[in-house]
Amino acid sequence: MNNKDCIFCRICAGELPSSKIYETDNVFAFLDISPIDKGHTLVIPKAHYADLFETPDAVVAETMEAVRLIARGMIAAGFDGVNILQSNLQAAGQVVPHLHFHVIPRMLSPEGPKWISGAAPYADAAEREAFAARIRNSVAKMKGDAV
Ligand code: 5GP
Ligand code: ZN
Repeated sequence: MNNKDCIFCRICAGELPSSKIYETDNVFAFLDISPIDKGHTLVIPKAHYADLFETPDAVVAETMEAVRLIARGMIAAGFDGVNILQSNLQAAGQVVPHLHFHVIPRMLSPEGPKWISGAAPYADAAEREAFAARIRNSVAKMKGDAV
């Protein structure tokens, strides 16, 4: 069930562009447009549910399976760590009311671990697509799909 006014429904239906990372029958993953760190990925069920409270357990489980696969794929691609963040309702900072998990790859830095904030915009579309391809290919390999 899709919602024509929902930006994430429109992205996974292909009506709006995105840098795709991974897709199954029921789950879609794509780069966040305003990354906290480069490679920041959003993982969503294709069906429209506003948040974790509204989403059936089986859909959460299937989405989380993809979250974990993508996080593993990021480590296999050479990232040093991964943050996973999921916000519910306005007070928690949820902006888009379609369930989504933020999967954010991290690199070790001399300043130490980063908290989940800040911004790391891509230099240009080529850099964005290079990050997308690096993660997408690693995830596909991890799943045993042909790359
Ligand atoms: P929330 O604050 O709801 O947990 O996160 C929503 C996220 O969606 C934000 O990180 C924001 O950058 C991202 N976002 C909003 N609109 C778009 C869009 O049109 N395309 C993409 N790829 N990401 C979006
Ligand atoms: Zn939606």
